[in-house]
Amino acid sequence: MKVLKFGGTSVGTIQNIKSVTKIISDGEKKIVVLSAMSGTTNALVEIASCVENKEVEIANKTITNLFKKYREVVNELFENINLKQEVNIYVEAIFKKLTKISSQTYNELLYNTIVAHGELLSTFIFTKYLIQQGIKAQLLPALDFMRIDRLNEPDNFYIQQNLNRIIRNNIPADIYITQGFICLDTDGNIANLQRGGSDYTATIIGAAINAEEVEIWTDIDGMHNNDPRFVENTQAISNLSYEEAAELAYFGARILHPQTVMPARTANIPVRLKYTMCPELPGTLINNNVTDKGIKAIAAKDGITAIKIKSARMLLAYGFLKKVFEIFEKYETPIDMITTSEIAVSLTIDNTTFLDAIIEELEKFSTVEVDENQSIICLVGHSIVNHNKTHKLFNVLHDFSIRMISYGGSENNISLLVNTKDKVKALRNLNDYVFESSLIA
Ligand code: ASP
Ligand code: MG
Repeated sequence: MKVLKFGGTSVGTIQNIKSVTKIISDGEKKIVVLSAMSGTTNALVEIASCVENKEVEIANKTITNLFKKYREVVNELFENINLKQEVNIYVEAIFKKLTKISSQTYNELLYNTIVAHGELLSTFIFTKYLIQQGIKAQLLPALDFMRIDRLNEPDNFYIQQNLNRIIRNNIPADIYITQGFICLDTDGNIANLQRGGSDYTATIIGAAINAEEVEIWTDIDGMHNNDPRFVENTQAISNLSYEEAAELAYFGARILHPQTVMPARTANIPVRLKYTMCPELPGTLINNNVTDKGIKAIAAKDGITAIKIKSARMLLAYGFLKKVFEIFEKYETPIDMITTSEIAVSLTIDNTTFLDAIIEELEKFSTVEVDENQSIICLVGHSIVNHNKTHKLFNVLHDFSIRMISYGGSENNISLLVNTKDKVKALRNLNDYVFESSLIA
């Protein structure tokens, strides 16, 4: 069985909902994972922050506007009077509940409950729409089988046991629909897999049912070889290894939630990225195949903070890095890039929640310099460290300064840290060099 995930824009308009219906009606049994309709989760996050700021009136206004939008969608999608009525009752109940919640006291649990409603709405509406179209569809509530553990990692054993049991015991259907993003925590409260987490849901489910393939359907024709927002003529990449895709997803290629590749890689399930509006395009296939050597893609991640930690005592000393790392571990702050010299170490983080506390502890044994507004530019490919093009790479970067370089950490990645104001230029220069080839010779 395949798992197909459709993102917010794929279920964001009536026309797209119809396109999705066509794509999934090929007679094959499948599980379909849906995000919330585009704009909904953002609106729910807005509602949650109004609740936090005790702006109940603004929250209610946003709820009313969203409700209106859903009424219109239901009106347009349903001709069958009974189904239309059933869906309207459901939608109304959801918005009544949201209004009730918005007058309660804010906490994280309330936030999680509010933002879960987008996926609940999209999956209910879509399942009933499929039934109207004569398709044997069945809703499998994600909260019956998706669970995270105390470390916020998917509880794979629980998910596998429960999902397979539910499918076995359910009324046979051609298409099972479920919610992306949402899950329960160990205490049975509503939680989620973080923003954009529906992709992750799809591969977690794929691994749980040992799917033949996971398809992520979205609003672009695959993973591109550079950021199409800043660089012209970028191309979809036809094949990536799990490692390459994971690096790209993490370092800025926003098409995939960063953790998505992991479950598929562990279970060796191919992941295909597809374009909902042009299903005939091949998209990007992510699997175990090792393809051509060389740089395949460039991506950039903003919001990076660089920290330089300098200590005279580092000279010929051991244990210095351990001390540094222990501080980051204590504050559960992941380090992305790292470079060292004999007396200093530079590293980058993107989560600055505990930056002040981290600096305070580092300053007990070193001098600390912090640079904000940095971007990591990441070059990804197979065996790129030894590739014959790679050593000339730095020729194209003389127009701006590079704060850090990470080369050789893995065969698949070279990362550069630049000031964010230089990012677009760096992406374009690198693109000319790597993909247009005019500068190589
Ligand atoms: N609806 C959620 C979000 O907007 C999850 C997802 O779309 O993947 O973040
Ligand atoms: Mg997404």
